[in-house]
Amino acid sequence: MNARTPANSDDAAHPADERPLNALSFDIEDWFHLVEIDAVANVDDWPGFPSIVERRTDEILGICEEFGVKATFYYLGWIAERYPQLVRRTVDAGHEIGSHSYWHRKVSDLDEANFRDDLTTSIKVIEDAGGAPVTSFRAPSFSITPGTEWAFDVLLDAGLDYDASLFPVARENGGYPCPIQPHLFAEAPSGRTLPELPMSLMRLGPSQVGFSGGGYLRLFPGWLIRRGFESLHRRGLPGVVYLHPRDFAPDSPVVPMSASRRFKSYIGLASTNRKLRMLLQRYRFAPCRDVLRHHLPEETSTCSTS
Ligand SMILES: [Zn+2]
Repeated sequence: MNARTPANSDDAAHPADERPLNALSFDIEDWFHLVEIDAVANVDDWPGFPSIVERRTDEILGICEEFGVKATFYYLGWIAERYPQLVRRTVDAGHEIGSHSYWHRKVSDLDEANFRDDLTTSIKVIEDAGGAPVTSFRAPSFSITPGTEWAFDVLLDAGLDYDASLFPVARENGGYPCPIQPHLFAEAPSGRTLPELPMSLMRLGPSQVGFSGGGYLRLFPGWLIRRGFESLHRRGLPGVVYLHPRDFAPDSPVVPMSASRRFKSYIGLASTNRKLRMLLQRYRFAPCRDVLRHHLPEETSTCSTS
């Protein structure tokens, strides 16, 4: 297949490409931004750790450029404050930027006031760094869970246009039961709605599991990932890829943790680059914003005035 550049050379409106649209996204944080791991929990230690984030994010930007594809980069505020030129390079390359919070704390561990402070701070530093508006959010570890629906009121109050935080089945540290298709989230206490782009699931035996990002993408073979995409496409649904700089870093420092968590955190690191390239070569991708506009055209444009 030699259709790399034409396949992804434009956004959702490319008239010549009728293939299903999928979302490409990256959560930009460092190897030590793992939740619930004692060895990296002290934020005072973070500045002293050797960083991989700039080099690996530039590697991701290079892959996107090579394939002529645009994505959404959810920056941690803590990263944007320290690497403003990296955020600027992301914007200058034509990508969408969003917030992945400031401190990478689970939403489910915060109250409404603390989440509001964290989100507001993150939006300011990311916008200052990138010189472009932040219009969406992805929660650390998909940690908007049942009982934290107030988070959507905080996102609406902050003027965001949409959310991409929900993982539609329960998982370690997160998950929220919801439809897997793009939809209007309507459970905020205020009664207001916000467009939601949930993560993708596929059926595997009796279970619905993730396959298109993070440890799932690193663990699963390419044929199984393709099966997941094709299952979604048959139902008219987009796939949502989400990856982190550390997913591309076999040389990332290994943090002491439980055996099961270590497996999930470090399996398949050497395969991510190849699998992402396989997906970009095969399928059509765009930033999350464009995928939502494609699926919820009126609702998204209505909310964008907030
Ligand atoms: Zn994260």
